[in-house]
Amino acid sequence: MHRYHRVVVKMSGGAFAGNNDWGFDRDAIDTLAGEIIALADAGIQVAVMVGGGNIFRGRIADQWGIDRVEADFIGMTATVLNSLMLRGALKAQDPGREVRVMSAVPMAAFAEPFIRLRAIKHLGKGYVVIFAAGTGQPLVTTDYPAVQRAIEIDAEAILAAKQGTEGVYTADPNAATGARLYASIAYDDAISRRLKIMDQSAFLLARDHDIPIHVFNSNRPRAMLDICEGKPVGTFIGPNTVTTLRDPVGAAGC
Ligand code: UDP
Repeated sequence: MHRYHRVVVKMSGGAFAGNNDWGFDRDAIDTLAGEIIALADAGIQVAVMVGGGNIFRGRIADQWGIDRVEADFIGMTATVLNSLMLRGALKAQDPGREVRVMSAVPMAAFAEPFIRLRAIKHLGKGYVVIFAAGTGQPLVTTDYPAVQRAIEIDAEAILAAKQGTEGVYTADPNAATGARLYASIAYDDAISRRLKIMDQSAFLLARDHDIPIHVFNSNRPRAMLDICEGKPVGTFIGPNTVTTLRDPVGAAGC
């Protein structure tokens, strides 16, 4: 018995790069594909909002002297690359698997357009749906679009995969000694504490529509299945919850 039946996985581009800062890591991508297949095989309907940070993020526009909106277009195409890479990896592992890439920006040769009811229909048939190009609008990352699509397709939760971090910490665990992992965070605390794990706009939209967000380590095997089975993995941000810390002993392994 699963607590969720339809989820949006927010997969940051970093998860495609493995331990590298940039680009693609074949083993990491194969592992991600395997985790998504395991989730779908458990009967959970899976849509994936794919990021592009392993290639380009719009917010570095200033450093590059590029117009911000142009930079966001570049970022969006990075998410398309990752989406096609993920579809390729899913099909390589399981050629019979039905996978649909739905792009917010027309890409007729590679991807379907995002049409809400069609996405829901695909999911109902057990197809894996990959959302490319966020919502097709500049000035946001893929965080807000992940929440928006979750609302649009009636998903019950967002599973936010982060590379190399177990969840949300009280401080940067690599910089601060004594940083503690949150078990749960109330939306308003995520907003008032300006937690950087997702954009504030994404928290606000999730709060207004009561969409729970689970932040977990993309390197952790079975993390998404465990979350859907109700096990305490990573950090839960959601409705009707108070902000709590994990036991420091358990923090390293959960
Ligand atoms: N982006 C955008 N509109 C969207 C989604 C993404 O402009 O609806 C651009 C934005 O520049 C963003 C980039 O695509 O920085 C890559 O996405 P993101 O930063 O979310 O990647 P992640 O950090 O998740 O790897």
